[in-house]
Order: sequence, then structure tokens, then C-alpha cells
Amino acid sequence: MPELPEVETTLRGIEPYIIGNTVQAVVIRHYGLRWPIPHDLPEKLQGQVIQQVKRRAKYLLLETQTGSAILHLGMSGRLQVLNQARSAQKHDHVDIQFANQIILRFTDPRRFGALLWTENTATHPLLQQLGVEPFDPTFSGKYLWLRAQNKKISIKSFIMDNKIVVGVGNIYAAESLFLAGITPMVPAQSISLDQFQQLAKSIKLILRQAIKQGGTTLKDFMNSEGKPGYFSQSLKVYGRAGLPCFQCGTLLTLVRIGQRSTVFCQRCQS
Ligand SMILES: [Zn+2]
Repeated sequence: MPELPEVETTLRGIEPYIIGNTVQAVVIRHYGLRWPIPHDLPEKLQGQVIQQVKRRAKYLLLETQTGSAILHLGMSGRLQVLNQARSAQKHDHVDIQFANQIILRFTDPRRFGALLWTENTATHPLLQQLGVEPFDPTFSGKYLWLRAQNKKISIKSFIMDNKIVVGVGNIYAAESLFLAGITPMVPAQSISLDQFQQLAKSIKLILRQAIKQGGTTLKDFMNSEGKPGYFSQSLKVYGRAGLPCFQCGTLLTLVRIGQRSTVFCQRCQS
């Protein structure tokens, strides 16, 4: 599933090809995504210039003067930049064609993705409730610590709550907690300010690393099968239950927290 780093990589991959370009046509072959694509979306986008491409949590925002297209990759979605028309395959649901012949193609086999339109991103129901971005200057240990007061939920569930901070998926939560040396099951309210400062730093570092590794596939973004790197080689705990900890050799423990499996080191994270 595309997580924040893959979405950020996608943004950086498509941005240079579409920014400042005029949408000539929008071809929709399948309206039934997670939410139906609005029937008037082609009409809204046509003739508009893409002024900016932004990411908010895992949403990509294609901003024009009159409004923004909101794109979500869902479970299996991806975007490709084509420099010439290529016949659409079964799961190629949307083509956005630009005046400079570039085509932005949205492919999504499982159709949990979304393509919507809004005149105001600040008040859109999908975007309005989102917490702070992990790379925003306001995201800090202090911020987390203040929000964690009286929160009995586990620290792992807490950092995965996108009303608190966006983009910390299961992999990144497990890896950040390992790096910060914090046990994932501990109640959020019992974490000290010092530990939160360590944790905020770890979250930024882990996400930056993942974006950097995803970025290595960028050169192939055009006309590729564009699968941004999932940085699986650098994982310290995620997916390594029962294997020895790289740091201390203790066998890593698997627990379930909020219906998600979590792997951690009993010795390094306490
Ligand atoms: Zn260890």
C-alpha cells in the first residue's frame, strides 16, 4: 500500500511534467473508485493550468485557479507519466491529457483510490480533520507530549492516529519506536517529554530515509512501471518477528496492537 513516502515520491515524479501545463482532456474509463469520480470533473479540470502539486497526508492535490483535484492512491494505485498515447490496460481508469502531449495515467487494480474535486481544500471533509504534517516545523516532541496528556491508548496507536500526525503508517510507526527505544504498547500519556523529542526526531528521520530511497527510482518515473522503492532493505523490526535484533541479538517479539501486528525488541525498547 502506498504510504506517505511513496506518495511524496510520486509527487516529485509527476510535478516537473505537469506544473504550468494546461489540461486538455480528462478521460475516465471507470468512475467507481472508493468514492465515485464526480461526473463533472473532466469539465472542471479541462482548460485549467496546474499551478501547484501538493501533498497533504496521502492525498495529492493538483491545484488550479478554480479548484483542486484530490487524488488518493488507495491500496494499489499509481500514477504514470506518458509522453505518448499508449493503449489503456484493464486497470488504467483515468488519463489526464495535457496540452504538451503529456498524459498522467492513474492505474488502480483494487479501486480503493480516489479522484475528487474541491473548490476549497481547507474545508474539504477528507482534509479538514487531518493532523500536522511530520515535516512541518510545528511537529515536535513538545507537540506530541502536549497532545498525549490523558491519552491511555498505546503510543503506537497514538502516533498512527492521523488526527495527531499524518503519514505514520504501520511500518514507519514500528521503525520509529525502535529507533527511539520506546515499547509500542506503553500508554501515550506515560511517555516523557524527552522520549517524545526522541520519537519526533525518529519519525522524521525514518520518513526522510524512505523518501530518499523511493527517490532513487525517480529517474525512471516516465514510462516506467513506476514502483517507488519500499525501503524494505533498511527495516530493523517490521516483518522481522522471531529474528535476532540487529542491535542486541534478542529475538524480536510480535504483538498485536489495535488489530495491527507490531514487532519490537524487548531489550532495546523499554
Ligand atoms: Zn535489541
